[in-house]
Amino acid sequence: MRPTSLVPVFASALDLSGVGPRIEILLKKAVSLPPGVTTPRVVDLLWHLPTGVVDRRAEPTIAGATPGTIATLLVRVLKHRPSPRGNTRAPYKVACEDDTGKIDLVFFHADHRLVERQLPVGSMRYISGRIEQYSDKLQMAHPDYIVAPERRNDLPLLEPVYPLTAGLSNKILQKASAQALLRVPQQAEWQDPEWLRQRGWPDFASAVARLHRPLDAGDVSAGGAPRQRLAYDELLAGQLALDLVRRSQKERPGRQIVGDGSIRARIADALPFALTGTQRQALKDIAADMAAPSRMLRLLQGDVGSGKTVVALMALAIAVEAGTQSALMAPTEVLARQHAETIAPLADAAGLRLGLLTGREKGKPRKELLDRLASGEVDILIGTHALFQDDVTFRDLAFAVIDEQHRFGVHQRLALQSKGGSAGTDMLVMTATPIPRTLLMTHYGDLDVSRLTEKPAGRKPVTTTMASTDRIVDVIDGLKRALAQGAQVYWVCPLIESSDKTELAAAEERHAHLAQTFGASVGLLHGGLPAAAKDETMQAFSEGKLSILVATTVIEVGVNVPNASVMVIEHSERFGLAQLHQLRGRVGRGTRQSFCVLLYKTPLGETARARLEMMRETEDGFLIAEKDLELRGGGEVLGARQSGMPEFRVAEVPNFTELLAAARDDARMVLAADPALRTPRGLALRDLLYLFECDEAVRLFRAA
Ligand code: ADP
Ligand code: MG
Repeated sequence: MRPTSLVPVFASALDLSGVGPRIEILLKKAVSLPPGVTTPRVVDLLWHLPTGVVDRRAEPTIAGATPGTIATLLVRVLKHRPSPRGNTRAPYKVACEDDTGKIDLVFFHADHRLVERQLPVGSMRYISGRIEQYSDKLQMAHPDYIVAPERRNDLPLLEPVYPLTAGLSNKILQKASAQALLRVPQQAEWQDPEWLRQRGWPDFASAVARLHRPLDAGDVSAGGAPRQRLAYDELLAGQLALDLVRRSQKERPGRQIVGDGSIRARIADALPFALTGTQRQALKDIAADMAAPSRMLRLLQGDVGSGKTVVALMALAIAVEAGTQSALMAPTEVLARQHAETIAPLADAAGLRLGLLTGREKGKPRKELLDRLASGEVDILIGTHALFQDDVTFRDLAFAVIDEQHRFGVHQRLALQSKGGSAGTDMLVMTATPIPRTLLMTHYGDLDVSRLTEKPAGRKPVTTTMASTDRIVDVIDGLKRALAQGAQVYWVCPLIESSDKTELAAAEERHAHLAQTFGASVGLLHGGLPAAAKDETMQAFSEGKLSILVATTVIEVGVNVPNASVMVIEHSERFGLAQLHQLRGRVGRGTRQSFCVLLYKTPLGETARARLEMMRETEDGFLIAEKDLELRGGGEVLGARQSGMPEFRVAEVPNFTELLAAARDDARMVLAADPALRTPRGLALRDLLYLFECDEAVRLFRAA
């Protein structure tokens, strides 16, 4: 149960006056919601922070008012001049004055009654809005505020400006967040008072209040004290949650899995190459983890093509040598099948019995497979999410590898782990995303990491160029030349936010467009196709029957077609750098000189340009990831939206990395002294965990 003081904060936004079903729909669009939450709540409005302010503090006389600026004036209403009958195009004007001069208030398509009521002739009014010059007169069109002198306080002198969506006005959001603020309880302080003093940060309630009701233009800036305080709150909550989960996992007993090396030796004999130094080191780390009595959770990081699969296979073999079973889970059907195909010949040579289980295995063959799995006739099960369906039972699962971990949520990882029964399952997660150390901490806490830093021999550098979409004709000419020499081309289509349908439409359109020039040799691959069609298309491309493959981001991970040497990425400015890096890694695998063309749509913002130039300048995945973090802040580096990783709600601030390191140290110190969060600060920190919805951690201390 949530602390009662926080219940009003988690109520539906519909509770707020001015928010009805129509506004709720708009809020859903404008406000970012955490995974699993489908309708906006009061708390979501609190985290929906202004990006700037409108400053109405200038209060000049009419004579002193500067055209083009926002000002608040105290005026006397002189005369109404409604638009002439029959001429609705002419505005309704209201002449006003003060002791220094005159100004006209101008209303287009005015509601006459309303204007008359707001501005009675002879009355004094505060008006606030943009001062304009019209021929030799001053005017203000549609003042933002018109208030009587006794209601002066209704006029916000610094008005927060929120990110909006069509149909949702800033005023509605202001009104809603003002009410949301009233629901913020005064909680016991969860931060260290000395730390707050050092930083000059306000308490939580004041921080939220100053963001939504700024007293100073700096209050809403990402470097300002209120925002920094909240960013730190969120980061500390995240770090605490991770540490709590990690601690509880490490406490649970694991099993000691030790193999005799016999199967590994047979695999090594069957390999046409020798393992690189970092591959050997990673395997040593993994074997040591498996042999230890605590539960293993290790990340294997290696750029695309660095050879993670063979490391995974060797690790899977250790479990089999020890007389248990192991599993390899991939995020997509295509990848799972590809893994199975790559591994099959080696497994045959080493006497390993493989099984493949995806959403496509059905009926009798599936039943037979599950029977063999339960009786222990399958040593290694390869598959997709289908692996943790309820009726999948292992005889004895001791070890699992998850490929491209960042595409799976923590829940899915835990679900697979539970298949191992009470003794638990040791786990190796693999990713090609070069996640910077700092960011790893936000998502895994203290995770053990092995990195493959040597590229296997034979990889070629990729020449990267940037081109505006206006030059697409030149790009297509370039393709004609490349195809004439037998090259193959990936053409990746834009990711359009919030609608898979549109992404699909864009890919279909581009496919049709390229087919006009290149005919039947152009294939189309997207997530909406049935699995069989996807495999078929991929197969045709890898056999060279198709020369251009138009695809949505489904090809991002894993796919291996060495003859493909050109990668065109449309709307490259919309992708995360890590994703661009992965996409580019699809080429440069064969003997040809490879190219990557980053198509972008003008105008290109400064940050977007810097990011694309970074791609042009280097192929070092870690450098790219660090840069991305610097340019964009944490949550986006992993392409959070596609990967289902938690996004930060307020922590995306310029000094993110520094705050994160501090939060990590803070979390460690707190839990070392108070592992069950029972001291006064510990109890306050529980509220913090509730507030940022760190549910997994909350479950843990509730169970304790
Ligand atoms: P990724 O890390 O992207 O999953 P893969 O495991 O698919 O990379 O390996 C890419 C290619 O490199 C494969 O064809 C694999 O057989 C090959 N490979 C892996 N390790 C080595 C090695 N030590 N020497 C040479 N080639 C290797
Ligand atoms: Mg791989």
